[in-house]
Amino acid sequence: MKKVIVLGSTGSIGRSALDVIRMHPDRFDLVGLSAGSNADLLACQAAEFGVDFIALTAGGPLDTRARHIFLGDEAATQLVKESGADIVVNGIAGAAGFLPSLEAVEQGATLALANKESLVIGGAFITAQALKSRARVIPVDSEHSAIFQCLTGEPADSLSRIILTASGGPFRDRPAQTFRHITPQEALSHPTWSMGRRITIDSATMMNKALEIIEAHWLFETGLDRIRVLVHPQSIVHSMVEFHDRSIKAQLGIPDMRIAIAYALSWPERLPLMLPSLDLDTLFTLEFHPPDEDKFPALSLAHQAMEQPATLPCIMNAADEVATGAFLNGRIRFDQIIDLVRETMDRLSASTATSPEELIGLDRVSRKIAESILS
Ligand code: MG
Repeated sequence: MKKVIVLGSTGSIGRSALDVIRMHPDRFDLVGLSAGSNADLLACQAAEFGVDFIALTAGGPLDTRARHIFLGDEAATQLVKESGADIVVNGIAGAAGFLPSLEAVEQGATLALANKESLVIGGAFITAQALKSRARVIPVDSEHSAIFQCLTGEPADSLSRIILTASGGPFRDRPAQTFRHITPQEALSHPTWSMGRRITIDSATMMNKALEIIEAHWLFETGLDRIRVLVHPQSIVHSMVEFHDRSIKAQLGIPDMRIAIAYALSWPERLPLMLPSLDLDTLFTLEFHPPDEDKFPALSLAHQAMEQPATLPCIMNAADEVATGAFLNGRIRFDQIIDLVRETMDRLSASTATSPEELIGLDRVSRKIAESILS
């Protein structure tokens, strides 16, 4: 039995993780849960699994029999510290996931990571700490899980290129000159994946892929010049890797996050999942084409950000969190999201950060600057 905690348990990743654990009660002992503000669902989940440790960042009241309750900004990090879990599933949305991830690797736990921001913001700290405490970071992000699966069993020095696939989002074929009229409702309807609100908007701007380029860099120790983005509207090939001998391996499957979550929980084994097979009997097509970087300028921001990897990715992410929120609230247009991110990066390009605490400070400053540009 592996002791597991799920951070962000009321969100899309968290609920899928609980589903996997529900299918395999003999393999996993769920000991802790954390949520942002959905106290009712958190309490329900805690009662169902009989967990002892729960954390709630905001909101309440919390009606629970759990014996250890953590509240406030640091609740998730305290939960990781106190619960003694073997596996920490981090499904928190946004920069708030960074410190809990760092705590998980400090504890030597296996970090099943869906929170890509952890690596975007503090990839250097997470990877250095994981090496020191022999903690494993196993990706849950579908593309990175695919890459991880393709690399399993291969010599570490045989990787030539990573080919990161992108659905292209709902506006792949929409003319750029009409982007100013895109409504939040349109941007929230993703063609292939059902996900949380911020990541769905990030998929529409392709900022999600920019974050994933940086995530892949840290996970697989690969330079950005060896990470290629390819638009693949069907979302069946979740990503590919090319080896030195020019052989390419891909991982395919239905778009269901439970596959990546289960793999991270059970690696190097595979757990049976009660899911439909990919239908290979009906004729289907797999298309691939390069992304339109003029239409989706977010992609080039990843490269710009990694020119100053200690600070600019953190600033980029914070500004994007503010910008997507502002778009959803009707304060800015869709085509202004990336402009706001870029301007925040430009204004803060002289920043420094040499510790995780300073990065949290920089995240806060970036949000303030993005807000000030907004108003
Ligand atoms: Mg992804």
